[in-house]
Amino acid sequence: MNVTVLFNNERVSDRYHTGWGFSCLLDRHVLFDTGEKWEYLEGNMKKKRVDLSRIDVVFISHDHWDHTGGLWTLLDKRPNLRVIGCQGFSDEFKSKVLEHGGRFEPAEDWSSVADDMVSTGELPCQYKGSYLAEHSLIVRTDKGITIVAGCCHPGVVTIVEKVRERFLTEPVHLLFGGFHLMERPGREIELIARQLKYLGVKNVAPTHCTGGEAQAILAEAYGTSYATAKTGESFEI
Ligand SMILES: [Zn+2]
Ligand SMILES: [Zn+2]
Repeated sequence: MNVTVLFNNERVSDRYHTGWGFSCLLDRHVLFDTGEKWEYLEGNMKKKRVDLSRIDVVFISHDHWDHTGGLWTLLDKRPNLRVIGCQGFSDEFKSKVLEHGGRFEPAEDWSSVADDMVSTGELPCQYKGSYLAEHSLIVRTDKGITIVAGCCHPGVVTIVEKVRERFLTEPVHLLFGGFHLMERPGREIELIARQLKYLGVKNVAPTHCTGGEAQAILAEAYGTSYATAKTGESFEI
């Protein structure tokens, strides 16, 4: 299955827009998050020859501007799109989806997103003193499970543990997205790298809010099983 990285803070060449946020396209029709703004997302999609008319689902990991920025103009252009989020997203977000002509669908635990793709369901956490709901996308292919995470605010290990409990016999081929380890001390990141390996995560492709130090520690821990996920890259899972 094809994965195309559409937006984050790293890029394969300066032909692409970068900034704060995350977005990728799965199987050429499921858009995961939308980055910080539409102009950047649209520009990068054009360079990757993404066919906008094929996108039929938008999976929003959590209701933060750097993941929802491109959503509103996309909905204006493509009304009636399914927007899969969590019940715990803000009322403001849900009504804005409707105002822009989208159809908001709260994900349940392991509810279907598309063929071979399910949501982890809502994982609760606290962010800057208030409640935050986030879910991750699980893709199942012949290689095993790929976990696509927006920011991992509930904790990268917590997310992987929930997935492992549900899919005990399927290997975790890849963990990809923002791991949110920017402000963590190095020793803690080393422990997290060990926990991810213990949980059976075979390959990692950390980006966005993972942080440079955490990327370096994970690259060291994972060796050839570490992959970059820069804007403009495409790979198969
Ligand atoms: Zn983020
Ligand atoms: Zn966030």
